Amino acid sequence: MTNNEDCVDVGAGNCDDALARLYEYLDNEMDDATAEGIRSHLDGCGGCHDRFDFERRLKVVVKQRLEEDVPQQFIAKLRHALEEEAARH
Ligand SMILES: [Zn+2]
Repeated sequence: MTNNEDCVDVGAGNCDDALARLYEYLDNEMDDATAEGIRSHLDGCGGCHDRFDFERRLKVVVKQRLEEDVPQQFIAKLRHALEEEAARH
């Protein structure tokens, strides 16, 4: 199931399903019904909500940085730093 203590089974789907589809969701690469199921899970699950929120913000930053042609190495570093930051909360 899950090893995220913040995550509880709520609404449609569960934490594993939600996280497995995180990138599809953020990229709008899924049908409305599936997206709606994930959205309802996020509404009730703080752990997944934080995770999705983190990835969404990371995507925005990376996108902005990519326009400035930042090396992948920097993005990896940035991701790592943000993950450490997120883990502290
Ligand atoms: Zn969850």
